[in-house]
Amino acid sequence: MGGERKRSSKPLVLVASPFQGHMTPMLQLGSVLHSNGFSITFAHTKLNSPDPSNHPEFLFLPLSDNFSAIDASANYTKFLEALNNNCKTQLQDHLSRKIKDEMNHTITVIHDNIMYFAEEVASNLNLPSIVLRSCSASYMPAFLSLSYLHAKGQLPVRDSMMEELVPDLHPLRYKDLPFHSTPTEVATEMLALAERIRTPSAIIWNTMDFLENSALTQLQEHYKIPIFSIGPLNQMARCPSTSFLEEDTGCISWLDKQAPRSVIYVSLGSLATMDETELAETAWGLAKSQQPFLWVVRPGSVSGSEWIEFLPEGFMEEVRGTGVVLKWAPQKQVLAHSAVGGFWSHCGWNSTLESITEGVPMICQPVMGDQCVNSRYLSYVWGVGLELEILERKVVESAIRRLLVDVEGEEMRRRANSMKEKAKCCMCKGGSSFNSLQELVELITLSD
Ligand code: UDP
Repeated sequence: MGGERKRSSKPLVLVASPFQGHMTPMLQLGSVLHSNGFSITFAHTKLNSPDPSNHPEFLFLPLSDNFSAIDASANYTKFLEALNNNCKTQLQDHLSRKIKDEMNHTITVIHDNIMYFAEEVASNLNLPSIVLRSCSASYMPAFLSLSYLHAKGQLPVRDSMMEELVPDLHPLRYKDLPFHSTPTEVATEMLALAERIRTPSAIIWNTMDFLENSALTQLQEHYKIPIFSIGPLNQMARCPSTSFLEEDTGCISWLDKQAPRSVIYVSLGSLATMDETELAETAWGLAKSQQPFLWVVRPGSVSGSEWIEFLPEGFMEEVRGTGVVLKWAPQKQVLAHSAVGGFWSHCGWNSTLESITEGVPMICQPVMGDQCVNSRYLSYVWGVGLELEILERKVVESAIRRLLVDVEGEEMRRRANSMKEKAKCCMCKGGSSFNSLQELVELITLSD
C-alpha cells in the first residue's frame, strides 16, 4: 500500500529499541512511511542492530549503548534507564546538525515507547515526537489498572481469585493480568512511564480497529492525543528479514513436502525461556501427538544449555521423519506456508498478528507482559486460539490434535481465515488502517 501519495522527502528520524519484538515493527513502519514519501533516518542501538543491506532506502544512525547483550535476569528498568542515558547525547548531537541541514522541513521523531530519551531530546529541540507502541492495545487497560488494583488492596492476587473476572476489565481474569504480586519497584516505574506519555503529539499502534476497537477507544480517552491504529505492519510493509538471528530457511523445503495444514509450528519468540522439565513435556507432547512439527528452540532458551543438549533421550530418534527442530525460523514465511495448520505460541503481539493475518489458529502458552491478555483475547473473544492450561505432555498431545485434527480446530481456522480477510480490508483503500496511515501522513506533513 502507499506510494500514491508521494509528497516530499520530509525527514523522519525513527528511534528503535534493541528487542526483536520492537525492532521488527519499527523497521516495518519505516518501510511504510518511506513508501509514503518520507526520508527515513533509522537510529538504533549498536546492540542488536538491524542489517542495513536489507534497507538500502534508509540512512542508519548507530547509537553507542555500551551494552554487549540483553541480560534477561537483570533489573529491566535499570537496563532501560542506562540504555536511555547512554544514547541521549548522540541523538541530540545528530538532530542538532540535521536541523541546520533541513532548512525547509521540520524533522519528526518517531520513537519506540521504551526509548523515551528520544521524546526528551525532541522536546529540547522543539521537534514533534510520536510514539510507536508494539504491544496489543487490549493490554494497556490491564496494565494501567494495576495501580488502582494495588490501591484497592487487590494485589497480590489471592490464588482463589485467579479464575475470577476483574471488575471493569472484561473479559480478563485476575490470572490474565501482567502482574499478580504487589507491584515491584520495576513494575511501578514501568507504570509511571506508561502513564506519563504527554509531550508526543500522537501514538501509533500496530493493530486494527475491528480487532481492538474498545481498547483503542479507552486509550484515546486516557491519553487525549491522536492514536493511529496502523496495522498489521507485518502485512503492510514489504520488508526483507528483520531477524537478529540467522533464519534457517531450509525448513521451507521441508514444509513443501508436508500435507496441507498438517504441521504444528512451535515458537516462544525471542525472549521466553523454559526449564528442562518444560522442554521434556513439550518434546514428548509433540512426539505423542504424531503430527508433523517445526519446533524453534532458540540457543540459550533452556537455562544452562547451548542448544538442544537437554532434549530428552530418545526423542530425536522417535521423531525422525516427523519433526524438525531449528534455532530460528523465517517465521512470516512459515506461517504463510499452506502446510502449516497451527501455531503453538507464547502470544507475543507480533506473532499473534502474523498468525491471525495468515489465517493460522493458535495454541496459546503466554509467558509474560501482554501475552496473557493476548492469549485471553485469542481464545475467549476471537475464538482462534486454545489456551494451554498446563504444560504436560498429555495436555499438549490433546491440544495439538484438537487444533490439527478435530472439528474444533477446523472452526478456529475458519474464524482465523475470516480475520485474515478483515485484515486485508483494513489495509485497502478506505479501510481503517489505510485511513489512519493517511491521517498520520497528513499530521506529520502539517508540522512544517
Ligand atoms: N521470529 C522469527 N523466527 C523465530 C521466532 C520468532 O522470525 O524463529 C520473529 C517473529 O516473526 C516475530 C518476532 O520474532 O516477528 C517475535 O516477536 P513477538 O512480539 O511475537 O515476541 P517477543 O519475541 O517480543 O517475545
